[in-house]
Amino acid sequence: MVSFIIEGLEVRYPFLSGGVIGQSVMGKNIPFVKIGRGQTELFYNASHHANEWLTTPVLLKFLEEYSESYATGDDIFNTSARELYNKASLYIVPVVNPDGVDLVNGVVPNGKFLSAAQNLAGNYPNIPYPNGWKANINGVDLNLQYPANWEKAKEIKFSQGFTIPGPRDFVGNAPLTEPEARAVYNFTRNHDFRLTLSYHSQGEIIYWKYLDYEPDNSRRIAEYFGEVSGYAVEETPYSSGFAGYKDWFIETYNRPGYTIEIGIGMSPLPLSQFSEIYKDNIGILVGGITEI
Ligand SMILES: [Zn+2]
Repeated sequence: MVSFIIEGLEVRYPFLSGGVIGQSVMGKNIPFVKIGRGQTELFYNASHHANEWLTTPVLLKFLEEYSESYATGDDIFNTSARELYNKASLYIVPVVNPDGVDLVNGVVPNGKFLSAAQNLAGNYPNIPYPNGWKANINGVDLNLQYPANWEKAKEIKFSQGFTIPGPRDFVGNAPLTEPEARAVYNFTRNHDFRLTLSYHSQGEIIYWKYLDYEPDNSRRIAEYFGEVSGYAVEETPYSSGFAGYKDWFIETYNRPGYTIEIGIGMSPLPLSQFSEIYKDNIGILVGGITEI
């Protein structure tokens, strides 16, 4: 579905370009869109976690609003869209985990993938199905798949009882076993991203640190994001402090990488929160370009 939305935007705004970073377990394309022509490369992604899919329309609406402002010569969040466009090349991957998002929304067709997922959910009867599903369709948590102290993440999650595939918190049998995480990893390796935003829900929190790494400007930008959004700026809790995309990005490049936790309540968040969430996040999305 997201591919259709992106294609529609590309028809209306021919200055957008895009492609595919890889395929999901079920063979769906994982699309990206690029907006801007500046030297500085940036990367925004959403929906690593299935039941956090409200993060996807946040990026898509931003892409649409930014495109429209650029086309008409207008401002976005009090900043000239043309300035943004000339400063940075922004790459957006709105859905890292398309199979998982489809599972939560009840649109995975009957067949082997759906039955397998239902069986995996049965291993964790206390986690609601499908609403508690964060993983990919194989039952692997994609944001515990990156090679940043993965062994430590495994030790923590195993000690919490997440020892087999299921709705969430299973790290996989090794880093990067899952095609969706591998696609994001390779896409990152093939670019020179100066800053990354990974969208998750929920909590209205900005996580900006990995261990003791403190890339240039990362604290200042985190504080700026906090001011424009009203979100809290916090250090990642130890129990979820390893093997995430942000962790790997910071460890590998020593550049600012953020996890933005949108909204308040239980994921999946109700659509009724969307306008408030978008209003809170527009300053972060523009600020990622202006502040780096
Ligand atoms: Zn998440």
